[in-house]
Amino acid sequence: MQRGQMVNRHRYAAKMDLKRQNRLAVGIVSDRFPDVSSIIINMIYYQKGPNPVLMERTVNIFPGSDAYFMMDCMTKGCNSGGYDLTPVVNDMVKNHKAAKKGSLICEGTIDVPVAGHASIEYEILMRFSKTARKAPVLK
Ligand SMILES: [Zn+2]
Repeated sequence: MQRGQMVNRHRYAAKMDLKRQNRLAVGIVSDRFPDVSSIIINMIYYQKGPNPVLMERTVNIFPGSDAYFMMDCMTKGCNSGGYDLTPVVNDMVKNHKAAKKGSLICEGTIDVPVAGHASIEYEILMRFSKTARKAPVLK
């Protein structure tokens, strides 16, 4: 194995490690959002070029899932890119919104900084449990 390869592999491992720590740190959905019974995230990944649709993906999130809404950029070699849906999810929960659409642009870099090399369109569908906590009744 060449030296460069080893460095790359090490860097990759460190990145994965950080990611796992981030995931663990957020906790699970039922802890963070007790009123949410499911979240469906539909995404279409776009890239620059003649075939702009890179992939379509659906992520199903349940109360036992990690409350982790940072989606990876699917572009090979993209550095510290991705799509953070956390603020959107937080806003939906706060306002009891059942659906939200939008788009995000990846701001990661590939070798040389290329702004907007990829983007997603997302649609988030959220279900809230019927037994949502009510304000405590005063006796
Ligand atoms: Zn990217």
